[in-house]
Amino acid sequence: MTTLSKEKQAQLAWLAITARDNAYAPYSHHPVGVALLAGSGAVYTGANCEFANFDCTCAENTAIAAMAAAGERYIDTIVIVGPATGGVCMPCGRCRQRIQEFADSKTRIHCLKPDGQKGRVFTIAQLLPHAFGPQDMAVLGLGPLARQVKPKKTATKAKRRT
Ligand SMILES: [Zn+2]
Repeated sequence: MTTLSKEKQAQLAWLAITARDNAYAPYSHHPVGVALLAGSGAVYTGANCEFANFDCTCAENTAIAAMAAAGERYIDTIVIVGPATGGVCMPCGRCRQRIQEFADSKTRIHCLKPDGQKGRVFTIAQLLPHAFGPQDMAVLGLGPLARQVKPKKTATKAKRRT
Protein backbone atom coordinates (compact mmCIF):
# COMPACT_ATOMS: atom_id res chain seq x y z
CA MET A 1 0.00 0.00 0.00
CA THR A 2 1.51 3.30 -1.07
CA THR A 3 0.74 6.59 0.61
CA LEU A 4 -1.35 9.31 -1.00
CA SER A 5 -0.13 12.89 -0.77
CA LYS A 6 -1.90 15.05 1.80
CA GLU A 7 -3.25 17.18 -1.05
CA LYS A 8 -4.72 14.17 -2.86
CA GLN A 9 -6.26 12.84 0.35
CA ALA A 10 -7.84 16.23 1.02
CA GLN A 11 -9.17 16.42 -2.53
CA LEU A 12 -10.73 12.95 -2.33
CA ALA A 13 -12.24 13.71 1.09
CA TRP A 14 -13.75 16.94 -0.22
CA LEU A 15 -15.22 15.16 -3.25
CA ALA A 16 -16.68 12.43 -1.01
CA ILE A 17 -18.24 15.04 1.28
CA THR A 18 -19.70 16.87 -1.72
CA ALA A 19 -21.17 13.62 -3.02
CA ARG A 20 -22.53 12.80 0.45
CA ASP A 21 -24.24 16.17 0.57
CA ASN A 22 -26.00 15.24 -2.68
CA ALA A 23 -27.07 11.78 -1.48
CA TYR A 24 -30.75 10.91 -1.76
CA ALA A 25 -31.50 9.25 1.58
CA PRO A 26 -34.98 10.46 2.61
CA TYR A 27 -35.86 7.14 4.30
CA SER A 28 -32.74 6.17 6.27
CA HIS A 29 -31.35 9.68 6.75
CA HIS A 30 -27.95 8.03 6.41
CA PRO A 31 -26.26 9.86 3.52
CA VAL A 32 -22.94 8.45 2.35
CA GLY A 33 -20.48 9.83 -0.18
CA VAL A 34 -17.59 8.18 -1.95
CA ALA A 35 -14.65 9.34 -4.03
CA LEU A 36 -12.87 6.60 -5.93
CA LEU A 37 -9.41 7.04 -7.43
CA ALA A 38 -9.17 4.60 -10.31
CA GLY A 39 -6.08 3.07 -11.86
CA SER A 40 -5.88 5.74 -14.56
CA GLY A 41 -5.84 8.54 -12.00
CA ALA A 42 -9.42 9.56 -12.79
CA VAL A 43 -11.77 10.10 -9.86
CA TYR A 44 -15.37 8.86 -9.75
CA THR A 45 -17.84 9.86 -7.07
CA GLY A 46 -20.93 8.20 -5.72
CA ALA A 47 -23.73 8.78 -3.26
CA ASN A 48 -26.37 6.47 -1.89
CA CYS A 49 -29.79 6.63 -3.47
CA GLU A 50 -32.91 5.23 -1.79
CA PHE A 51 -36.35 4.38 -3.16
CA ALA A 52 -39.85 4.21 -1.74
CA ASN A 53 -39.89 0.42 -1.99
CA PHE A 54 -36.97 0.43 0.48
CA ASP A 55 -34.48 -0.51 -2.19
CA CYS A 56 -31.17 1.31 -1.91
CA THR A 57 -28.03 1.74 -3.94
CA CYS A 58 -24.94 2.33 -1.81
CA ALA A 59 -22.51 5.17 -2.51
CA GLU A 60 -19.68 2.71 -3.09
CA ASN A 61 -21.78 0.90 -5.67
CA THR A 62 -22.64 4.03 -7.64
CA ALA A 63 -18.96 5.11 -7.74
CA ILE A 64 -17.81 1.63 -8.77
CA ALA A 65 -20.48 1.47 -11.48
CA ALA A 66 -19.38 4.87 -12.82
CA MET A 67 -15.78 3.63 -12.89
CA ALA A 68 -16.77 0.46 -14.74
CA ALA A 69 -18.93 2.43 -17.19
CA ALA A 70 -15.85 4.47 -18.07
CA GLY A 71 -14.01 1.24 -18.87
CA GLU A 72 -11.84 1.15 -15.78
CA ARG A 73 -11.27 -1.99 -13.75
CA TYR A 74 -8.99 -1.06 -10.86
CA ILE A 75 -9.58 0.80 -7.59
CA ASP A 76 -6.43 2.49 -6.32
CA THR A 77 -8.15 4.27 -3.43
CA ILE A 78 -11.72 4.59 -2.26
CA VAL A 79 -12.70 7.23 0.29
CA ILE A 80 -15.96 6.84 2.23
CA VAL A 81 -17.69 9.54 4.30
CA GLY A 82 -20.92 9.03 6.20
CA PRO A 83 -23.59 11.19 7.86
CA ALA A 84 -22.51 14.46 9.42
CA THR A 85 -23.60 13.32 12.87
CA GLY A 86 -22.01 9.87 12.67
CA GLY A 87 -18.58 8.38 13.24
CA VAL A 88 -16.17 6.64 10.87
CA CYS A 89 -18.22 5.21 8.01
CA MET A 90 -17.47 1.60 7.11
CA PRO A 91 -18.66 -0.10 3.90
CA CYS A 92 -21.45 -2.65 4.25
CA GLY A 93 -20.85 -6.31 3.48
CA ARG A 94 -22.18 -6.11 -0.07
CA CYS A 95 -19.95 -3.13 -0.82
CA ARG A 96 -16.91 -4.92 0.56
CA GLN A 97 -17.59 -7.64 -2.00
CA ARG A 98 -18.06 -5.01 -4.72
CA ILE A 99 -14.78 -3.30 -3.82
CA GLN A 100 -13.01 -6.65 -3.76
CA GLU A 101 -13.99 -7.28 -7.40
CA PHE A 102 -11.73 -4.38 -8.52
CA ALA A 103 -9.15 -4.31 -5.72
CA ASP A 104 -5.83 -5.88 -4.94
CA SER A 105 -3.54 -5.86 -1.94
CA LYS A 106 -2.40 -2.30 -2.77
CA THR A 107 -5.91 -0.81 -2.84
CA ARG A 108 -6.54 1.66 -0.01
CA ILE A 109 -9.95 1.94 1.62
CA HIS A 110 -10.20 5.19 3.61
CA CYS A 111 -13.09 5.17 6.06
CA LEU A 112 -13.30 8.75 7.31
CA LYS A 113 -15.14 10.74 9.93
CA PRO A 114 -17.95 13.01 8.67
CA ASP A 115 -15.67 16.02 8.31
CA GLY A 116 -13.31 14.01 6.08
CA GLN A 117 -10.48 14.35 8.53
CA LYS A 118 -9.44 11.44 10.69
CA GLY A 119 -10.36 7.91 9.96
CA ARG A 120 -8.84 4.54 9.26
CA VAL A 121 -7.23 3.03 6.19
CA PHE A 122 -7.78 -0.62 5.38
CA THR A 123 -6.84 -3.17 2.76
CA ILE A 124 -9.57 -5.33 1.27
CA ALA A 125 -8.06 -8.37 3.02
CA GLN A 126 -8.64 -6.62 6.35
CA LEU A 127 -12.27 -5.81 5.54
CA LEU A 128 -13.13 -9.04 3.72
CA PRO A 129 -10.76 -11.82 4.80
CA HIS A 130 -10.89 -15.14 2.99
CA ALA A 131 -13.06 -13.53 0.33
CA PHE A 132 -14.80 -15.24 -2.54
CA GLY A 133 -13.88 -13.37 -5.68
CA PRO A 134 -12.80 -13.46 -9.31
CA GLN A 135 -9.98 -15.89 -8.53
CA ASP A 136 -12.54 -18.48 -7.37
CA MET A 137 -14.48 -18.21 -10.61
CA ALA A 138 -11.27 -18.30 -12.67
CA VAL A 139 -10.52 -21.88 -11.62
CA LEU A 140 -13.83 -22.78 -13.25
CA GLY A 141 -12.75 -20.99 -16.40
CA LEU A 142 -15.14 -18.10 -15.77
CA GLY A 143 -14.67 -14.35 -15.36
CA PRO A 144 -11.97 -11.79 -16.04
CA LEU A 145 -9.13 -13.82 -14.51
CA ALA A 146 -10.02 -17.04 -16.31
CA ARG A 147 -7.25 -16.74 -18.86
CA GLN A 148 -4.65 -16.32 -16.12
CA VAL A 149 -5.48 -19.51 -14.26
CA LYS A 150 -5.23 -23.04 -15.54
CA PRO A 151 -8.41 -24.97 -14.78
CA LYS A 152 -8.08 -27.79 -12.31
CA LYS A 153 -8.33 -31.28 -13.68
CA THR A 154 -11.82 -32.44 -12.86
CA ALA A 155 -11.69 -36.13 -13.58
CA THR A 156 -9.07 -38.75 -14.18
CA LYS A 157 -9.62 -41.86 -16.17
CA ALA A 158 -9.71 -45.00 -14.13
CA LYS A 159 -6.87 -47.36 -14.86
CA ARG A 160 -7.89 -50.46 -16.71
CA ARG A 161 -7.11 -53.76 -15.18
CA THR A 162 -6.03 -56.30 -17.68
ZN1 LIG B 1 -22.99 -0.80 0.84
